[in-house]
Amino acid sequence: MTEDADTVDPSELGEADAPPVEEKPYKLVFEANKCFGAGKCAEVSDNWEMDLASGMAKPVSYFFGEDDLDHNVAAADACPAKKGDGVIHVVDRRTNEEIAPDPHGDGTLSVDW
Ligand code: SF4
Repeated sequence: MTEDADTVDPSELGEADAPPVEEKPYKLVFEANKCFGAGKCAEVSDNWEMDLASGMAKPVSYFFGEDDLDHNVAAADACPAKKGDGVIHVVDRRTNEEIAPDPHGDGTLSVDW
């Protein structure tokens, strides 16, 4: 993990155990430490569930294909954490761009850690 949030490279995150990009072209980057358990993600996406022990959300799968893109994007857009910017990030592994929530509007990873 790099220390400068402005230089976080999505390709460095979670790729060690990742399935092939051709099979699962999208991945999640989740700022779990900023989740406050509002549960909006789980309302709109089957890929998100609430962990009863921690009270926070967790994804069922960090990697997925086209079929699961829309509801994961909906979860990213619905997340109210970080003053509405959200803590669920959907990244296209082929381009390394953040598809959602993309608060900067330029595809850069909007993590804040
Ligand atoms: S919507 Fe965001 S803050 Fe709420 S449980 Fe899901 S990830 Fe956490």
